[in-house]
Amino acid sequence: MNKVEFPKDTIQCPNLIGGEWTMGKGDKIEVFTPYNGSVVGLTSAATKEEVTVAISKANEAAKKWKATPLKERTQTMFRFRDILIRDIDTIANTISLESGKTLPESRAGVMKGLEVLEFALSLQNLDGGGKMEVSRGVHCEYRREPLGVVASITPFNFPAMVPMWTIPIAITLGNAYVWKPSEKTPLTATLIGKSLLEAGLPAGVLTILNGQVETVNEIIDNDAVKAVGFVGSSKIAKLVYQRATSHGKRALCLGGAKNHIVLLPDADPEMAGAGIADSFTGCAGQRCMAASVLLAVGEVDKQISKIVERAQSTTIGTKMGAIITKEQVEFLNKAIDAAVADGAKLLLDGRGMKPEGNHEGGYWLGPTILDGVKPGTQAAITELFGPVISIVRCSNLSEALEIENTNEYGNAASVFTNNGALAEIVSQNASAGMVGVNIGVPVPREPFSFGGINESKFGYGDITGANSLNFWSDIKKVTTKWQMQNDHNWMS
Ligand code: NAD
Repeated sequence: MNKVEFPKDTIQCPNLIGGEWTMGKGDKIEVFTPYNGSVVGLTSAATKEEVTVAISKANEAAKKWKATPLKERTQTMFRFRDILIRDIDTIANTISLESGKTLPESRAGVMKGLEVLEFALSLQNLDGGGKMEVSRGVHCEYRREPLGVVASITPFNFPAMVPMWTIPIAITLGNAYVWKPSEKTPLTATLIGKSLLEAGLPAGVLTILNGQVETVNEIIDNDAVKAVGFVGSSKIAKLVYQRATSHGKRALCLGGAKNHIVLLPDADPEMAGAGIADSFTGCAGQRCMAASVLLAVGEVDKQISKIVERAQSTTIGTKMGAIITKEQVEFLNKAIDAAVADGAKLLLDGRGMKPEGNHEGGYWLGPTILDGVKPGTQAAITELFGPVISIVRCSNLSEALEIENTNEYGNAASVFTNNGALAEIVSQNASAGMVGVNIGVPVPREPFSFGGINESKFGYGDITGANSLNFWSDIKKVTTKWQMQNDHNWMS
């Protein structure tokens, strides 16, 4: 399958409550495809009453799921993996339909989700707890226990991958998971929910509640919800974090980004050209790991010409996907105008570019490269979330690092160089949670965890991998004595 297929009828996206699919009684929300702007789906918000009923059912399910041994829970998740692999083409098509990604990008998102799932499947062997005789006849033991009901609120830009950062780990650890997908991409959520039910996940262990701010707030405020995971923009991440923690709940809220790439004169032009162009054009720049600012140190024009060449050959509608909404295209067009007014020069202008294929009415912007962007201007400091890169010229590495360090975000940073010592200086001094060396999109692979710092993350720990386990569970410490010891023992 090379072309996105469009449905004949509007796809309904109901809520999943206690194992039953029912359309929410709240506001209707239409889902548009960025490919041509037509309505492809319909969902509706869960009302306060529906949220209350759903979480009460999730709470009942959580008790039984907790009592199911880890090895049995894992078997359900193995079946879930088989189903995702079997249905990957259908899921990828749905992701592309509602998010505007290309099909290869959508498949890659599912594959990355599968990698997190495989990490979760390994917990039965890697995370068995620990036990030790700490004193004669006295044993101390670690037991990992689920929290009960946990919630997750996810963004539009990775309809499968971002939810799959947390679904496998939180559910395998024994929690009941309440998911509020983005209202822009609820179609994929329905498919993931159906796959988990087919795998044999008991009713209520996964709940899907559609909607927007009101639904999110009802979920956060519900007493049964013990932890809140969030991925989205920094503004909302902070609001959700503050609301959840004001109730004394744990929260891990990942926010937006403005990722900087330091380009040094000794960088391999081919490697830098491909790595940097693909980073800012991939997923049409709508990913929190996309390159956004290129800190061009010294004489790097031969590398920049390779970036321009590669980006120029990235045809939209085929090699690059669409922008999520019409409003976002307008925002990006205005941001490009503003950068030019601020003194930037356009090396590549994607405005008004027509997509290949029959995509009339869609939301499109071609790759755009702004050179000579001044530090402190909108294009240099604001998350634009589109296929736009701002080149800021720097005279040395210290100046480049100073610019990177003063940005409020801290998701990713990269350096392109052949000099190991300079790469190490960037790794040590970049103010970012994830650093790449000659890698444009430095996403850690499992078991290494995903997560930024600064305004890109509110809360402690990371959202995936080994660093996520303590967020989705508690460690119970059990100390046991079965026999009286004759000799002295300070444990009573
Ligand atoms: P968003 O913040 O607009 O929405 C995210 C979720 O929050 C959605 O489910 C939405 O319905 C909900 N929401 C919106 N307003 C809310 C409010 N006032 N209160 C409570 N919930 C609310 O983000 P988006 O536009 O869907 O996604 C793009 C953003 O996500 C970008 O900023 C991107 O950088 C970020 N993102 C970050 C990561 C990361 O790992 N740090 C990953 C993916 C995306």
